[in-house]
Amino acid sequence: MNVFSFIKERVQILNVIQEHIALKKAGNYWKGSCPFHSEKTASFTVSPHRGIFYCFGCQETGDVISFVSKMEHCTQVEAAKQLAERYNIELPETITHEATETLDEKKRYFALCEAVANWCHAELAKNPSVINYLEKRGISQ
Ligand code: ZN
Repeated sequence: MNVFSFIKERVQILNVIQEHIALKKAGNYWKGSCPFHSEKTASFTVSPHRGIFYCFGCQETGDVISFVSKMEHCTQVEAAKQLAERYNIELPETITHEATETLDEKKRYFALCEAVANWCHAELAKNPSVINYLEKRGISQ
């Protein structure tokens, strides 16, 4: 196992991001104001069960380690070390420090599609007139 997977298994992305910005629960994800671009409406989302964040405003996305590296303007290896220190995670000697691993591309696309689907679902639920319209067109729940 490399240092990234090791840290990600021990650190909650929600806790880390909430140290920087306020998040509100919205269905099975959380949302708040994006720390990477300025905005008036909250379009930054965190999916704790997937361990990722995604911003609908600026399309910034990633896991807990890339969040820290973007916030702190440091490399992912430095971000991983910072998280280990902050959360008192002792790294085993056998761990590899190669910066090769991030979410593989396919996983990232699936996670992204899920985030978009959740957002659309939440938006639709807020608009009963749209739901009525869809039902009239014969589209079921
Ligand atoms: Zn953004």
